[in-house]
Amino acid sequence: MAEPIRAVKGMNDLLPPDSARWEWFEDTVRALMRRYAYQFVRTPIVEHTPLFVRGLGEVTDIVEKEMYSFVDSMNGDPLTLRPEGTAGVVRAMVEHNALYDGGKRLFYVGPMFRHERPQRGRYRQFHQVGVEALGYAGPEVDAEVILMCRALWRDLGLGEVRLDINSLGQPDERRAHRAALIAHFEAHRDQLDTDAQRRLHSNPLRILDTKNPAMQPLVEAAPQLMNYLGEASLKHFDALKAMLDAAGQPYRVNPRLVRGMDYYNLTVFEWVTDLLGAQGTICGGGRYDGLMELVGGKPAPGIGWGMGIERVLDLVQQVGSAPPAPVPDAYAIVPDATAMPVAVRTVEALRAAGVAVQLHAGGGSMKSQFKKADGSGARHALIFGSDELARGEVAIKPLRDAAAEQVSRALADPAAWATSLRNA
Ligand code: ATP
Ligand code: MG
Repeated sequence: MAEPIRAVKGMNDLLPPDSARWEWFEDTVRALMRRYAYQFVRTPIVEHTPLFVRGLGEVTDIVEKEMYSFVDSMNGDPLTLRPEGTAGVVRAMVEHNALYDGGKRLFYVGPMFRHERPQRGRYRQFHQVGVEALGYAGPEVDAEVILMCRALWRDLGLGEVRLDINSLGQPDERRAHRAALIAHFEAHRDQLDTDAQRRLHSNPLRILDTKNPAMQPLVEAAPQLMNYLGEASLKHFDALKAMLDAAGQPYRVNPRLVRGMDYYNLTVFEWVTDLLGAQGTICGGGRYDGLMELVGGKPAPGIGWGMGIERVLDLVQQVGSAPPAPVPDAYAIVPDATAMPVAVRTVEALRAAGVAVQLHAGGGSMKSQFKKADGSGARHALIFGSDELARGEVAIKPLRDAAAEQVSRALADPAAWATSLRNA
């Protein structure tokens, strides 16, 4: 046998039965988006590298060390597998002048790629659902995107997920804070790790986002951006807090919360759980009013979040809230291959009538086919036996209800009895 070829490290297959949980999640998300009137968008997985370098910021973990970038061998273009969803959606809105008639509320679902060290909750191909609300400057949209996460946690049957919020103010406010931040870190230069030393002058705010535990005391003691915010920024933040209060959503103001991308301003937030160990952030987002302009569009405000589907589903599995995987309504047993044309015609008619039918394939004895029928979880077995067929009928045997009786139904008109097979 040839040497087996394995999946790329950090990139995982999704197989049954786990895939059922995934489908349930996606269905739940789509229903949520309809309730909030967010529309689906899809952008390419590959983008021009400068979109991320410019959009996310040169001195960020993602751009400095996590991107899958390559040169298009056909034309030399620098390209990158998208590490996140916001830059691509904003680019698409600019490219198609999609905000010409007002704001847009959008969502996406799909794979993202980051070259990180694989571990629980951290993969090289992972998946996000995200929303972007573009063209709305007011804090009511900040509240909306945050509260739709809460609604999703409820729909998914998750317990408490903690909400952290902060305000990053505006670029000019950050400049004043930046000087104080540099002075603070410079006074403790010996305690900075190499990343922090390198970023001290290029992007000191990023140092606050460090994952290095040894740096935490220094980060804790750093001057807080909140103290540098002007009246307008504080007013926006207060308005958001008032709306969260009114909606009964608890939160913690976390002055250390800065997020990993440079495009954020004003509101930033993260949803965190204690049940997933080190990778406890299941969703993060914020406002990015400067991003449209940064990627070459007319200025327009924006806010959104990205949610790690693998992490959310890990949590779903832990709390055991997913419904059981769907099973077929009926399993068609065909003891003799000569009955197959009639069986195929009949199960097609049943499927057209909305019944989920698994057709036995591969022959075998009646007994082995019944075993398969049982294992499928179906509630009924359809038996296409020669006696039944000779009478123009199919036998329907209940598999899960010992009290129910076997019945025969006319092959001539499957639509007439199809609904009796449908699982509630
Ligand atoms: P972290 O701090 O855990 O590295 P992040 O701030 O880099 O996360 P974001 O860019 O904000 O993450 O992405 C939003 C969400 O996507 C995260 O909250 C997380 O749930 C998920 N996520 C990010 N990176 C990964 C990854 N490598 N594998 C799985 N999920 C991820
Ligand atoms: Mg990260």
